Amino acid sequence: MIKYILECKKQHKFESWFSNSNEYEKLKKRKLLKCIFCNSYSIKKSIMSPKVLNSSFKNNYEINSLKEIKKVKKELLKLRKYVEKNFKFVGDSFAKEVREIYYDKKNKKNIYGSTTKKEREELEGEGIDLNTIPWVDKEN
Ligand SMILES: [Zn+2]
Repeated sequence: MIKYILECKKQHKFESWFSNSNEYEKLKKRKLLKCIFCNSYSIKKSIMSPKVLNSSFKNNYEINSLKEIKKVKKELLKLRKYVEKNFKFVGDSFAKEVREIYYDKKNKKNIYGSTTKKEREELEGEGIDLNTIPWVDKEN
């Protein structure tokens, strides 16, 4: 989108949005552009400000989402540290270990590791609830 400040021959100024610069030319040629104050068709472009508008909007947006990502990542790192500290890592044998814990009620321990999609579905079928957490890298 491009915003043009349009000006008629009586110096009325008003803003108008176009999908691109060609659209402005097209509408002007077809006499579809007129002054919103005096209905004059003698319209010209005044100050053009799309670049400033667009880039500042984009930058703000990017800064905000970057901040959000950092915030979320920090939380996930905290979660990762908590799991690493309080849970036993069992790696690929997670599905096997989890069953042992689930069926041996006395053996309550916290473990973490990885499962295949198939293993996870099998465990779910057995009524074993798993939590999957996003595992973020500590670097960057
Ligand atoms: Zn006018």
